[in-house]
Amino acid sequence: MPSRSNFIDGEWIDAESGDTFDTHDPANPDAVVGTYAQSGAVDAERAIEAALVASDEWADTPGPQRGRILSRASRVLAERKEELTELLVREEGKTQPEAAGEVQRAIDIFDYYGAKARDVGGTVKGASGPDTTLRTKTEPLGVAGLITPWNYPIAIPTWKIAPALAAGNAAVIKPATLAPGCTYEIAEALAEAGLPEGVLNVVTGPGGEVGDTIASHPDVDAVSFTGSTGVGNAVYDTATEDGKRVQLEMGGKNPIVVSDTADVAEAASIVAGGAFGVTGQACTATSRAIVYEDVYDEFVDAVVAEAEGIEPGNGLEGGEMGPQVSASELEGTLDYVTVGKQEGATLETGGDALDRDGHFVEPTVFADVDADSRIAQEEIFGPVLSVIPVGGYHEALAVANGVEYGLSAGIVTDDHTEANRFVDDIEAGVVKVNEKTTGVELHVPFGGMKASSSETYREQGEAGIDFYSITKTVYDN
Ligand code: NAP
Repeated sequence: MPSRSNFIDGEWIDAESGDTFDTHDPANPDAVVGTYAQSGAVDAERAIEAALVASDEWADTPGPQRGRILSRASRVLAERKEELTELLVREEGKTQPEAAGEVQRAIDIFDYYGAKARDVGGTVKGASGPDTTLRTKTEPLGVAGLITPWNYPIAIPTWKIAPALAAGNAAVIKPATLAPGCTYEIAEALAEAGLPEGVLNVVTGPGGEVGDTIASHPDVDAVSFTGSTGVGNAVYDTATEDGKRVQLEMGGKNPIVVSDTADVAEAASIVAGGAFGVTGQACTATSRAIVYEDVYDEFVDAVVAEAEGIEPGNGLEGGEMGPQVSASELEGTLDYVTVGKQEGATLETGGDALDRDGHFVEPTVFADVDADSRIAQEEIFGPVLSVIPVGGYHEALAVANGVEYGLSAGIVTDDHTEANRFVDDIEAGVVKVNEKTTGVELHVPFGGMKASSSETYREQGEAGIDFYSITKTVYDN
């Protein structure tokens, strides 16, 4: 069971208040998983100061040297894959295969940015005259403030930390209060890999205090936030007051269109995978299936069968869908089930909490959902799918785009022209053809449109490094 103080300037330091908080196993809420520092503004300030002091030397460290440290950290994490997977299951509630996949993602991200760091620094762009060489020079921004959610507690911290450090920034991270354990494992792996003291600092505590201090502090140059749209917008307002660069990745209400040319059984399997995988607690989870009338009844039967075939349970004991992360997240899902019934949607299956310990809920399918109703418009963040009938492509597109979010979207179709049309027309940062809306590759950009993202900056791939860098163009005569 981890018991962690803050990690500041290479040392484990208790919160100034001396207070701590516990995390609990969502599948077995009486079991304490970890104990962490209940920090406040003063602790966050101390971490930012440590990062500021460390930032110049790290910025001057050559890219290949930075890259070797990140690559070594990848290997350290790989050696600990099994224990990290167990920690993730116990603290956040994913199933064992889901957690193992997420840990592998973190390993791969450090490996990827370890290689990328070698190329950071600029390029020669030819000449603008007989005596003038043109080149670009990229420089780090300084101190990056990173604020992360609980739902991918190792992948998301990693996909911010690795590019921030690869680009030569020092960083302070505040992981989510519900599942901070994995972030400390990352810090420890980097320290073992030779990361200089102060380059990465971890502080736990309430977002309203620790997160807000990071967002508002004048010595923080850039803030990368992933979490809910409400909190993200507040972070944006605070962080941009003194001109910080801000990256936001926020909520989703992700649609998938099922065309009348689709193989219905295959479509149901794709939709169920996106809706009920990771217990629907993914920003890219499929929450709306928008289905052409010709295949509607057949699709509803098939997706209900998929939902009823899933066995919820403790991930360490072979459950196929884990619990929700907390009692309040479970309550939020059950509240939406009540709303759906009140709105007149047909509850086809699920809708109840499981009669056992843990925050378990049944995979839930509503049919005949009105596209403007709350369950079709608001992010539920649990395993609840709304199925919406439509007359054809134009109506499907209007429904798909008719929400405030624009993160991930999919279409299941056998018609390539229709698929290409959808790729052009859909308002989403990630578009999937004949694939579930969840699951993204680490070497391509990731981000959303509308209320899902800040749109200006993408994460992952090379775009991930761009956010943490500034480019100068040099005319050298
Ligand atoms: P959240 O409540 O918005 O919290 C996210 C982070 O912000 C946490 O570390 C939280 O700290 C912190 N925070 C809270 N209030 C703050 C404030 N006033 N100032 C600064 N930081 C503050 O989100 P969540 O419940 O952890 O995660 C679920 C949400 O994240 C969903 O909406 C989901 O769609 C979204 N998400 C988006 C993506 C994406 O890439 N688009 C990926 C994953 C999740 P505490 O934990 O201490 O409250």
